[in-house]
Amino acid sequence: MSDQPEEPHRHYVDGEWTAGESEETFVSQNPATGETLGEFYQGTPADVERAVSAAEGAYEEWRAMSYIDRAEVLWDVYHELRDRTDELGEIVTRECGKEISEGRADVVEAAHMVEWAAGNARHPHGDVVPSEIAAKDAYMRRKPRGVVGCITPWNFPVAIPFWHMAVALVEGNTVVWKPAEQTPWCGQIVAEMMVDAGVPDGVFNVVQGFGDAGNAIVEDERVSTILFTGSAEVGHKIDEKLGGVPGRDAALEMGGKNGIVITANADLDIAVHSAVMSSFKTTGQRCVSSERLIVHTDVYDEFKERFVDLAEDVAVGDPLDEDTFMGPLIENPHRVKVEEYADLAREEGVNVLVDRTDLDADEIPDGHEDGHWVGPFVYEADPDADLRCTHEEVFGPHVGLLEYDGDIERAVEIHNDTQYGLAGAVVSEDYREINYYRDHAEVGLAYGNLPCIGAEVQLPFGGVKKSGKGSPSAREVIEAVTERTAWTLNNSKDIQMAQGLSADIKTEED
Ligand code: ADP
Repeated sequence: MSDQPEEPHRHYVDGEWTAGESEETFVSQNPATGETLGEFYQGTPADVERAVSAAEGAYEEWRAMSYIDRAEVLWDVYHELRDRTDELGEIVTRECGKEISEGRADVVEAAHMVEWAAGNARHPHGDVVPSEIAAKDAYMRRKPRGVVGCITPWNFPVAIPFWHMAVALVEGNTVVWKPAEQTPWCGQIVAEMMVDAGVPDGVFNVVQGFGDAGNAIVEDERVSTILFTGSAEVGHKIDEKLGGVPGRDAALEMGGKNGIVITANADLDIAVHSAVMSSFKTTGQRCVSSERLIVHTDVYDEFKERFVDLAEDVAVGDPLDEDTFMGPLIENPHRVKVEEYADLAREEGVNVLVDRTDLDADEIPDGHEDGHWVGPFVYEADPDADLRCTHEEVFGPHVGLLEYDGDIERAVEIHNDTQYGLAGAVVSEDYREINYYRDHAEVGLAYGNLPCIGAEVQLPFGGVKKSGKGSPSAREVIEAVTERTAWTLNNSKDIQMAQGLSADIKTEED
């Protein structure tokens, strides 16, 4: 951000860049180098209060516009995301440490979401539904829900904000957004794009800061809908606060302890490739990353040898270098957590196969000594043991190999033995095994002969069990940010009722 002014960056509230109530600031740091990328004012509950008031005030006028006029604003954002993909991809990589192809993919995915949302404005919005009564026209219509609060994580710092906000805005809601504290620079750029595109004052507001600002959005009763993507811990707190509150709702997408089943009939080239991608891409810091590989005993030894070889060799390094496969972890406390889980696994008695938790000095690129480096940690464990390391989400390149004997039912039983249910995959050449997995794996996103990462916006995205509730992301977010109205119009002068219900009014005299 060297070309930016020295002043701390501001929030964007009610059409103005504002320092907010507090003079306190925080900085964004490059996780690969420790370099400071920018300084930002730290939002307070009072700043959130102002942002919600602005969003509430702008709502009636925004919802009164046509879908297509609202979408026009978003098309400008789409073109900017497309035109600036390489530049923004590099910023994503510098701020969150994902290797450069992932940085760019983050921006491309954001563009896809905006394209979907703005394109959808010209599509039918609801259904024409038959009525039992010929004289009645019945429709399912959608209405915006009002002020939508968006709370986003650092690992997809451009894509996830648009997953939340693009459809919400086109549908006629107004937005208060709190970007992740680790990636405020990406937040700033997204806000600038919205401003450049001419989003009317108050329709889009951003307050930078930490969990207290996020919590203030959750606690404000004027915010009808919370879209949250982040940790299970915070997501469940939000659910507890909003659960049962009339008129308020939350769509939540949290973590996972995602598994890949590799059966006796697997093509091992596909299995190894899928497992390495799923476990180590983004340094294991995707909510869909895989930390459990459930491998049939007939192919176990060969799979293990090939997977371990790659885990030993996978290129950790400067995320801006095209030859890097894994960048750093996001921040030091997270590095400590990943290290603690490696220690825990050892204490729990697993057999460690690869431990690159502490990389050798020559594996760390010059000038990157202050990065939060870690390499793969791979072990084998008993699939039936009640271990924390095989059941709790680490959010790092921490992978357990779980050997099983028996049929696909047994594999899926092990696969489902976690409290989470976000993503998973099966690798097999037998369609019956694949179909069994498809029908019985307890996940929201399931893949066959593929990694369990790699969502596309035109598919639903969300989890089951502890991983989520509703869908704050991709196309199904429309369900979270709209109310459906069942609308019935009578074209007759007579009132006729369905189900044979009498419409006659009977009096004492009848
Ligand atoms: P992660 O572990 O991926 O950083 P978090 O759940 O901690 O996930 O953070 C995701 C988002 O939630 C961030 O924008 C963060 O500031 C915000 N957040 C953290 N705590 C709270 C809270 N108590 N209420 C609302 N938002 C919060």
